Amino acid sequence: MVIGCGGVAQVAIQKCAQNDAVFDEICIASRTVSKCDDLKKKIEAEGKSRSKITTAKVNADSVDELIALIKSVKPDVVLNLALPYQDLTIMDACLACGVHYVDSANYEPEDTEDPKWRAIYEKRCKELGFTAYFDYSWQWAYQKKYKDAGITAILGTGFDPGVTSVFTAYALKHYFDQIDTIDILDCNGGDHGYPFATNFNPEINLREVSANGSYWENGHWVETKPMEIKREYNFEQVGMKDMYLLHHEEIESLAKNIPGVKRIRFFMTFGQSYLTHMKCLENVGMLRTDPVMFEGKEIVPIQFLKALLPDPASLGPRTVGKTNIGCIYTGIKDGKKRAIKIYNVCDHQECYKEVGSQAISYTTGVPAMIGTMMVMTGQWKGAGVFNVEEFDPDPYMEALNKWGLPWVVDENPVMVD
Ligand code: NDP
Repeated sequence: MVIGCGGVAQVAIQKCAQNDAVFDEICIASRTVSKCDDLKKKIEAEGKSRSKITTAKVNADSVDELIALIKSVKPDVVLNLALPYQDLTIMDACLACGVHYVDSANYEPEDTEDPKWRAIYEKRCKELGFTAYFDYSWQWAYQKKYKDAGITAILGTGFDPGVTSVFTAYALKHYFDQIDTIDILDCNGGDHGYPFATNFNPEINLREVSANGSYWENGHWVETKPMEIKREYNFEQVGMKDMYLLHHEEIESLAKNIPGVKRIRFFMTFGQSYLTHMKCLENVGMLRTDPVMFEGKEIVPIQFLKALLPDPASLGPRTVGKTNIGCIYTGIKDGKKRAIKIYNVCDHQECYKEVGSQAISYTTGVPAMIGTMMVMTGQWKGAGVFNVEEFDPDPYMEALNKWGLPWVVDENPVMVD
């Protein structure tokens, strides 16, 4: 069962339908059931999949509604492709029903002014030293409950987080005895022709990008101002781009799961137009996540902004160019220093031709299907809450090649200074 039918889910569901030997039944559920029905009709009209598709209406903020749905559909796995706000309610419902859970983004609260959440957040900022609204502590706290229930939760199987962490497990298994540094480079060389639009949910995207940056070094977090650290990098098949250091969720799990790693950084490319628009929106208060009164009604500025911006799912036909996302590793193998880069290049228009979506949704939706397949087929199993780098990377890496995201290992990579 898939919760959500937005840009990412539309790709994941179509890939599940392509993989009908594993996904023989798929239930698509969100608050707007008409969207789920449209996708079901599209897949059925193509006539290529033997998956039986059903749809349902659910508000995933309600644990009770989720439990009722899960009990009636009886899925093997729930794939959460709604928003990070719903992670905990969906985890609770899976726990109550004894069903495996998979997602692509870690928990963050919708209302960051909620005093109950804020007190825990401020304590964490002080103790751990990074101020991002999202962190893994909330979901890692389910470890014992999932273990006791004998069910699996897989956190973060998109591209980043997701594939980047599987790349890391693969590098450690096949190329290194010890990984010292990891640079994760996320480049979108695509052009959609709009002065400003985001490639996935605008609210989640703008929150992430306007926040302080941070990286992991020698056992602790180093925090930077937003966009403070800038580098240029020449990306294979894309060219030279400006990229900026951001905080990103897989830094937290890789710091925990990759023994002895000394530094982990995350960079994302942005054009000047995107950054100028974002700064302006931030300066006038349009990125605020707390409710404000407007003509007698409460509105949340960033949610209003989302209504004005192009729907990321509509960017498919207009986006041209490629993404290049991957990781550079340095470390030691057989007593010698080595560096490698593992990356994927994905073409926006090729994705559009295949599933009607741009490459950001594609590069997230395909790994969401693959992570779910790992659980469905028992290739990844275990009771508890896991990040993807904790499992054997080989079957996942093979599936990336098979299902549309082939990767390359460069043993002589250009480094980031
Ligand atoms: P969209 O905004 O396009 O879609 C979100 C979907 O969630 C919609 O179908 C919406 O449907 C549904 N939804 C939202 N709230 C609820 C609710 N309360 N109950 C039920 N359904 C709900 O987002 P994207 O597809 O762009 O992103 C999906 C997820 O993927 C996000 O968590 C995002 O952070 C993550 N992501 C991960 C990446 C990675 O590489 N790891 C990269 C990009 C995104 P409706 O409103 O009808 O209910």
